[in-house]
Amino acid sequence: TKTPLTLLGLGAMGTALARTWLAAGHPLTVWNRTPAKAEALAAEGAVVAASPAEAVAANGLIVVCLLDHASVGSALEGLDLTGKDLVDLTTGTPADGRARSAWARERGARFLDGGIMATPSMIGAPAAGGYVFYSGSPDLFEEHRSALEVPAGARFVGSDPGHAALHDVALLSAMTGLFAGISHAYALIEGEDISPKDLAPLLTEWLGAMGFFAGAAAERLVSGDFTTGVESNLAMQVTASSTYLRTAAEQGVSPELISPYLDLMRERLAADPAAHAGEDTAGAITLLRR
Ligand code: NDP
Repeated sequence: TKTPLTLLGLGAMGTALARTWLAAGHPLTVWNRTPAKAEALAAEGAVVAASPAEAVAANGLIVVCLLDHASVGSALEGLDLTGKDLVDLTTGTPADGRARSAWARERGARFLDGGIMATPSMIGAPAAGGYVFYSGSPDLFEEHRSALEVPAGARFVGSDPGHAALHDVALLSAMTGLFAGISHAYALIEGEDISPKDLAPLLTEWLGAMGFFAGAAAERLVSGDFTTGVESNLAMQVTASSTYLRTAAEQGVSPELISPYLDLMRERLAADPAAHAGEDTAGAITLLRR
């Protein structure tokens, strides 16, 4: 028999999650602030609760996927959570996850925070590669793992309830830099006789090859040795990167998306040129925690 569960929140993401549990045969109780969003799911077999209290009372496993940390607080305010297993898939910060965990524990519930690494169309589509980071109660995770794995893959990243959000935001922040770089590249060729469609596969191939930096930087950070010697050293990179800025100026493109990172490389070199010239760019990471 499949674990029955309750889902609070039927936005784009919550609705996608709900459909996968219904399709997999999990008895599902749902609640949404705007009741109309539950109608289609009722036709697909969901039990629609009239209030968060009714939804929470229906099952032991409670999943929430609302807009933000504050909306979760307002939906669950004053409810009896004694003995419940609460899983919060709402995007938040590490501090939000830790605060919700303490809040749940005070109310007698076990807690798991989740960070969804997928868009709604990737939910229930294993080939799309989406998954969810989970952290918090290992017992809750193990007990409900099979239900949690229905919408997307589940990756447990430790008992600190802030670490799911930290992993989520670390990956999304890295993505932000990647998108910024791609945006700058397209701005550079705008107005030239180069189609974005011709640059696209070159960008994809190049960024794939440059993904090695994640592993290389990790080696440097763990060993504390940033030296690379002659291969792409910082002194060369600082000089080379000035051509990025001059090219942007020639093309009439703002350097705003790339210059902060180049400035950081320059700052690292300038702090002690003799010591840092032979490093790779990973040394710049050590300047960020201010
Ligand atoms: P939507 O905007 O589609 O849905 C928001 C949901 O939150 C709705 O159910 C809405 O209810 C509810 N809500 C908002 N404010 C309140 C409140 N004060 N009290 C009660 N309910 C409230 O967002 P998504 O479904 O796309 O996102 C939900 C969560 O999933 C977010 O934290 C988001 O960051 C995360 N997520 C979304 C992804 C995506 O690509 N969509 C990807 C990864 C994570 P109502 O219908 O009444 O407005």
